[in-house]
Amino acid sequence: MTLTRNELTGPRVFVVLGGKKEKIHLTGGHAKPEKDTSMCGRELGNRIIVDARDIAPREGYQGSSVWCKQCLGILENEGLDQKVLFTSIQFKSGTFGDLCVIPHLGRQKKFNKYPLHLTPVPEESEWRILECD
Ligand SMILES: [Zn+2]
Repeated sequence: MTLTRNELTGPRVFVVLGGKKEKIHLTGGHAKPEKDTSMCGRELGNRIIVDARDIAPREGYQGSSVWCKQCLGILENEGLDQKVLFTSIQFKSGTFGDLCVIPHLGRQKKFNKYPLHLTPVPEESEWRILECD
């Protein structure tokens, strides 16, 4: 995999789609780096595993009732860059962003074991320089 220079990285979280009536589970991240089961411990079988960037913020996936609550609870311990993808999921008491991303920005003690990592900076020859008149 080619790393984009100077980009925030960490173990990626993936979305696990099952049948129509199945809850949507999560895998990957710090919780399940091997992606052999869902974060809540279910077999993945022949379910579809989707890049979270493609599905989590999209319409039709914002109601909290379609998501596995256990997986979303575990997601709370994942990297901020991954949690941000799920911010629009709506709970009675607020969005996932309100509940789990905003407090993270305060860098509470319990999040300190997952520091944010950046890939290396680009070479000077690759700098994107704003052209001015
Ligand atoms: Zn689950």
